[in-house]
Amino acid sequence: MTGKHGSNDRCPLCGGRLSSGMATMPFLFTDTVVLIRNVPAKICRSCHEPYVVGKVTDRITDLLNQLRPFRAEVLIVSYEEPLRAPALSVGGKEAILDTAPRFLKVP
Ligand SMILES: [Zn+2]
Repeated sequence: MTGKHGSNDRCPLCGGRLSSGMATMPFLFTDTVVLIRNVPAKICRSCHEPYVVGKVTDRITDLLNQLRPFRAEVLIVSYEEPLRAPALSVGGKEAILDTAPRFLKVP
């Protein structure tokens, strides 16, 4: 209950400042990479690490559970429009990058 206003807006990794934004976040299943786009997040200005708050995490968990039955190498969904039309890709990495301007660096 002590109002620590704004004092949490620091990156735990590098101490950089966090600012609100949208992130594309990758998640790994055993044989599937899931990208969730347009996730509301606090993004570090220095190292670009995105951080999500509890409510968002819950929704992501829910999305991932719904996506488990899909068998694909890569699944791309939007945080706000779940499962309407998951984009599938088999090996077309660069095409995926074109559609996700804020794509995080993933090997
Ligand atoms: Zn950072």
